[in-house]
Amino acid sequence: MDGIRNIVILTGAGISAESGIRTFRADDGLWEDHQVEDVATPQAFRRDPELVQRFYDTRRADILAAEPNAAHRALARLDREFDGGLLIVTQNIDDLHERAGATRVLHMHGEGLSAWCMACDARHRWTGTLLDEPSCPACGKQALRPDIVWFGEMPYRMDEIFGALARADLFVSIGTSGAVYPAAGFVQQAKSAGARTLELNLERSQGSYWFDESRLGPAGELVPAWVGEVLGG
Ligand SMILES: [Zn+2]
Repeated sequence: MDGIRNIVILTGAGISAESGIRTFRADDGLWEDHQVEDVATPQAFRRDPELVQRFYDTRRADILAAEPNAAHRALARLDREFDGGLLIVTQNIDDLHERAGATRVLHMHGEGLSAWCMACDARHRWTGTLLDEPSCPACGKQALRPDIVWFGEMPYRMDEIFGALARADLFVSIGTSGAVYPAAGFVQQAKSAGARTLELNLERSQGSYWFDESRLGPAGELVPAWVGEVLGG
């Protein structure tokens, strides 16, 4: 693709769904029979830490059991072979982009395989459980919580994301409805900075209006085809 020097990609639940990872459903806000407000807010964690820790212990196990799919592998190929600027911003908390081989990945909603110490602010890669209140490897206190951006908390590294959007020639949204801010604002930001905008999604979304082009279908088919176009075959 001629003239493309800086690409920003936003990925969402749709890309991981094809690896069997579930998330909150848009229609009823349920995830494994839990309401968003019961397991994914700071208030929920204060009210019932055991429920929240058990919920994320299960999510962590789900992540470890899942495998990257063709869409993750295609983006890893793009990361390897595209010599311009690239930032893969993901709303997903799994590590499937990284396990496929991508390195230029930013987790705006945190990481399932990370634990965050509320006592000393250290973050640790975490593959075990937190329900049993393990000690922080840095300070020894039993103050670890999932390193997840809950509803009502500020997404991570927004300055970096908006900086990349301001430089982007091309913004691509993959597997996300685009209806929830701040991610919904990314396409508008990219457009106002002069970028072309492309949506790859299973179905038309509430955000489709903002995109120059929408391609509909499974990420596992659309993403490898698109990456082939960018890299020229
Ligand atoms: Zn600590």
